[in-house]
Amino acid sequence: MSVDPDCLFCKIVAGEIPCERLYEDDEILAFRDINPQAPFHALLIPKIHLATLNDLEPEHAGMVGRLFLVARLLAKEHDLPGYRVVINTNPEGGQVIYHVHMHLLGGRQMKAGLG
Ligand code: 5GP
Ligand code: ZN
Repeated sequence: MSVDPDCLFCKIVAGEIPCERLYEDDEILAFRDINPQAPFHALLIPKIHLATLNDLEPEHAGMVGRLFLVARLLAKEHDLPGYRVVINTNPEGGQVIYHVHMHLLGGRQMKAGLG
């Protein structure tokens, strides 16, 4: 399924729910997180609906690589000398929205390691 009509992030992709867009191309959208955990907090998503990392297939490998390139681009555009990317997966991984997304966090000192 390339779009899930009940998915919040699919609605954002479709423009049915507003967001602050930071980057967009044919396959990727990046927008500010509504509840930022750092001075800069973006969500980078594929435009197609994939619920979790576990739904990725080999055909998605290029798109996943390009998500990282968009993270690098946004970090440069927003003058982030260092940053963190996170993909929460499934309830045990802290995932709340079931449309794959990469968090890009920066603008404050991150603690070393992961607590
Ligand atoms: P998860 O816990 O699934 O990795 O992260 C979901 C993220 O989506 C959270 O950081 C949350 O603040 C963000 N979020 C939830 N609803 C909305 C929304 O309607 N708009 C935006 N921009 N972010 C949202
Ligand atoms: Zn979706």
